[in-house]
Amino acid sequence: MTAENPPPITPSLPNALSAVQQEIVRACKQARRDPASVTLIAVSKTFDAGAITPVIVAGQRVFGENRVQEAKAKWPGLMSAYPGVALHLIGPLQSNKAKEAVALFDAIHSVDRPSICQALAKEIDSQKRRPQLFVQLNTGEEPQKAGVAPSEADAFIADCRDQYGLAISGLMCIPPVDDAPAPHFALTAKIAARNGLKNLSMGMSADFAIAIQFGATHVRVGSAIFGHR
Ligand SMILES: *Cc1c(COP(=O)(O)O)cnc(C)c1O
Repeated sequence: MTAENPPPITPSLPNALSAVQQEIVRACKQARRDPASVTLIAVSKTFDAGAITPVIVAGQRVFGENRVQEAKAKWPGLMSAYPGVALHLIGPLQSNKAKEAVALFDAIHSVDRPSICQALAKEIDSQKRRPQLFVQLNTGEEPQKAGVAPSEADAFIADCRDQYGLAISGLMCIPPVDDAPAPHFALTAKIAARNGLKNLSMGMSADFAIAIQFGATHVRVGSAIFGHR
């Protein structure tokens, strides 16, 4: 992708989606990265099929939901109407929802404890489906937040592979709301690098451009596309 030849932006795209795409291209250019190395996950939680459809029609193909039940209620219909849409689970997963999650999602960003590893390994084996898996880090070590503490990350990632046979593709983080996000993105990138993990799911509406500077491969953007929830 050269400066003389930017990617085409279709004028009919809904404006907000188009603005986010352009900001991704700009952030990539600044970071000397290929825009194709960043996947935009449009986070559609709380929005119904009527709000999601125009975004699919505009060309967006990767969506994120944070609840299994909500996704199950609205996505099977949309997915049969629009083949080629991929769905990512970005919210917490309970072991008793692992079966539904493996059946519905193409990626799961919230692997964070042995019981989930065990449940996912069982379903991946029995359903013969392999969603892309991310280990969620709790980089701010917030007690109320899901995710593995940074000090336990290396051991947990090794256990995912060695004890449960899970292929972990990357790490995900959600920085504390009141912190500057950059140190959290840097820490996540560092832990991924030393564990040989290529993918980084980090950056939301307020900070995805910063996350791209720190190597984000997957940005999870909700309100900047769909509006306030
Ligand atoms: C809701 C949510 C997002 C999107 O947040 P916005 O600020 O609306 O872009 C990203 N990641 C996770 C885990 C979420 O729950």
